[in-house]
Amino acid sequence: MSIVETVEVKSASKQTTDFLSAQHKLVIGGTAALSTTGETFQTFDPALGKVLTSVPHAKQADVDAAVAAAQAAQPVWQRMAPSERAALLLRFADLIERDTAWISEIESLDSGKPKLHIAAVDIPLGVGALRYNAGWCTKLAGETIPVSSPDMHVYTRREPVGVVAAIVPWNFPLCQACFKIAPALAAGCTVILKPAEQTPLSALILGKLALEAGIPPGVLNVLTGEGATTGQALVEHPGVAKISFTGSEEVGKHIARSASKTLKHVSLELGGKNPNIIFADCDVEAAASVAAGAIFFYSGQVCSAGSRLMVDAAVYDRVVDRVVSEAKQLKLGHGLNADTTMGPLISEDQLARVNGFVEQSRKGGIEVAIGGNRGKGDLASGSFYEPTVLCGADDSASVVREEIFGPVLTIQKFNSLDDLVPRANNSNFGLAAGIWTRDISKAHAAAAAIQAGTIWINTYNQFDAAVGWGGFKQSGYGKDNGREGLDKYLQTKTVWVNYGS
Ligand code: NDP
Repeated sequence: MSIVETVEVKSASKQTTDFLSAQHKLVIGGTAALSTTGETFQTFDPALGKVLTSVPHAKQADVDAAVAAAQAAQPVWQRMAPSERAALLLRFADLIERDTAWISEIESLDSGKPKLHIAAVDIPLGVGALRYNAGWCTKLAGETIPVSSPDMHVYTRREPVGVVAAIVPWNFPLCQACFKIAPALAAGCTVILKPAEQTPLSALILGKLALEAGIPPGVLNVLTGEGATTGQALVEHPGVAKISFTGSEEVGKHIARSASKTLKHVSLELGGKNPNIIFADCDVEAAASVAAGAIFFYSGQVCSAGSRLMVDAAVYDRVVDRVVSEAKQLKLGHGLNADTTMGPLISEDQLARVNGFVEQSRKGGIEVAIGGNRGKGDLASGSFYEPTVLCGADDSASVVREEIFGPVLTIQKFNSLDDLVPRANNSNFGLAAGIWTRDISKAHAAAAAIQAGTIWINTYNQFDAAVGWGGFKQSGYGKDNGREGLDKYLQTKTVWVNYGS
């Protein structure tokens, strides 16, 4: 089915409509290929509930071919002059940036996110990861180690782990892919990218742009498919050395178990239930305004979402009022509309999951200060959910404990730092936290005490390719970005040289 028949996208560019009308192919060893079985699956515009286009469903034979291509390309890519590898990554980044306008449209149609957010946030972050990691290509130095044995020169080499399977979710498809591709390629690994089945399109664009940039065939392969088949085949494949995964806790644990059979390297970014903490001495209105953005950005489908707002009892009412008033300002709509500030949820399944949490809260007597329903009127045909604020939940409520991954905020009171810290830490997750205070001692004390991979003080949702991102506890292990994000694609070889006679 073509875009013309299925979706009315009046404001999309010709490049976007041409892309959607084309027959999509896997990228394996530099060649565009249909799935060996010829099977495809559909991807949807979640704002309209309509089919966008179909993409190949990669099966075992396609996975085998992609792994073989990545294995063949890996030694060549590793041996390429580091400065040349860096230049190719920079060119790749330039091409993504060049195509920002139409890639943002495709990503918006596929994910529901506002196009303007994708152009302003997702693509710059992805491009930034490529540029940051390009710099590392020429700096992968080992060390010399003085040893106590006579006449021995010992040095280390930092070598790529091999073929990497990058398995990414639907909330930041291009950006998460770049967070994995960029350091892996900088390290000299080759990559097989498997996007989420809800958002396969930008990955196919990345595969083509990598080739256009001159990155050799087989260095970046793209397989669209389902997690349980395509993804699982990658996780089990003996030719894959490392799995770099972002997604749900449940699938992350399953992948860690499956990958242990072939002792793959595994890194997992598994989401969070992040406390955002407002002390009474901060700029309360500013904090509450950012707190609203911290949950409603991309409809709350963000691992770092500030989904647990914990507020000093002295300013609780002011914060609730301000967050509710910010929620009222949001303009729900199609991601291609310039005035949309909040798009739909990714799917009807996700909407049902989110609504299930809210219904359970209602039944449990938790106050719904605003929202709590799917979108009405023009929004009813898409997977829209109202920005929702829940007040008065206790710490044991499922809405306080579980990652909802929707525009649902709980606001709770605390009385002191001593009351706050154990409650903030009473979570299986430990991805991120926000702290709002003008008291520098309190800020540092809370930052040290809270169990999370990232702490933001008087700000929220700041990211940079140079800064590691990843969680504590069941939010996973292994960082994306920063030096640590590169290290996980490298292994250290030690060389002993006897220079004695
Ligand atoms: P999943 O964890 O199921 O999906 C993430 C990625 O893993 C997708 O590419 C998926 O493929 C793939 N996958 C699924 N099963 C396997 C498998 N057995 N082997 C290899 N790869 C696999 O997340 P969901 O899309 O189901 O979202 C469910 C919940 O997960 C959300 O509500 C949210 O709580 C959380 N989540 C967290 C994210 C984060 O950023 N940490 C991102 C997305 C979701 P496919 O899409 O084809 O199934």
